[in-house]
Amino acid sequence: MAKFEVTNISSTEDSFFDRQERIDWWEQDKLKNATVLVVGAGAIGNETLKNLALLGVGNILITDFDDISKSNLSRTVLFRKGDQGKRKAQTAAERIKDMALSDDFKVNYFEGDVVWELGTGVYRHVDIVLGCLDNIETRIAVNKQCYLAGTPWIDAGIYELGLRINFYKPPHAPCYQCSLSPNQWQAARERYSCDDFKKQVTSEGKIPTVQIASALVGALQVQEAVKFLCGQEVPIGKQIYYQGKTNDFDVFDMPDNPDCWAHQASYDEIISLNLDTDILLKDFLKEVSKAENSGEGATLDFRGDRTFVKTMSCRDCQKEIEFYRPSFRIFDYESHCEECRSEGENNTENQTPAPKQTIGQFNLEKLKVNDERLLNFTLKELGIPILHVVAVQDTEGKYKYYELTGDKKKLF
Ligand SMILES: [Zn+2]
Ligand SMILES: [Zn+2]
Repeated sequence: MAKFEVTNISSTEDSFFDRQERIDWWEQDKLKNATVLVVGAGAIGNETLKNLALLGVGNILITDFDDISKSNLSRTVLFRKGDQGKRKAQTAAERIKDMALSDDFKVNYFEGDVVWELGTGVYRHVDIVLGCLDNIETRIAVNKQCYLAGTPWIDAGIYELGLRINFYKPPHAPCYQCSLSPNQWQAARERYSCDDFKKQVTSEGKIPTVQIASALVGALQVQEAVKFLCGQEVPIGKQIYYQGKTNDFDVFDMPDNPDCWAHQASYDEIISLNLDTDILLKDFLKEVSKAENSGEGATLDFRGDRTFVKTMSCRDCQKEIEFYRPSFRIFDYESHCEECRSEGENNTENQTPAPKQTIGQFNLEKLKVNDERLLNFTLKELGIPILHVVAVQDTEGKYKYYELTGDKKKLF
């Protein structure tokens, strides 16, 4: 009787990804080596993250600053009933780590306000950004950062049974901002008071929709991302649209606005510094004042990107209120001093901004004389986002742009 030798038949059946690798243009290694930023871990984000993990995308960064609520659970495949009150980004990261098939899968998360706390450098260090958002303000911010960083992004949106994805690839127009209407610009401000402070309660994110819409849009978004990562043709400047109520499916060209600044902004050169946002302002200024950087007398300049508020007049009694905080970390109610707040009769009628003392330029010698206290603030406390690219002006007025690359290890 012949003896059977069991040889190792290494069929591709051994691979988790056998079926997808049978697609002739598929490049699993490119997915494995790719880094994808997923902005938003709600209904769409859950679907998108699940798809990325199952497809074998190797490196994922998730951002969200919300908690899981009861009404999320009917649309979030990664969350369970017992997850109510937990953090969305962290929970989603844990679940997809469990789900991912390759051993060297990397996932990290950032819990913060994407609009104000996620720096341009984060966008520079990823291959593509997937927007899984429910509000215009964050889409504007992601779009701006992607164009500054030169990173493509796919915006997903849902409404009832309808959905769309839009593919943007810098420097090509159109960008997300090109076709925003005045009403949308106004809606983008709904989180803020007339003083540019945050309102405590907003009604954003409560759109009528179902899980099916997020599942479909997450699938389309990731499919386009995979095509892009594998070097296939993608619908740049186009919107893919599906209306489930009537089963209309279409691909549209998006309008391009020649006056839109967002897709025209970019940096000529970004210099990487091995510093992070935990550095004290004085130490940062000493570092950029070195001859090989911007030279003595260098000034950190926010260039209108954000506002640091030192003091403000109380809306009721005009008494000076001290803040020493960036405006995005100040709440609306704080524009009334504590005494006036406790008296409870706050003037909410007047919608003109109250007078403020702000600072947007930081120079070592000048601060030593005028406001020494600020020199002991960290860049983070000044409101500079993680892994950001900051502008520094030299004494001749020339700007250089420095990335705070020391933050990179916190995220990737
Ligand atoms: Zn544009
Ligand atoms: Zn007051």
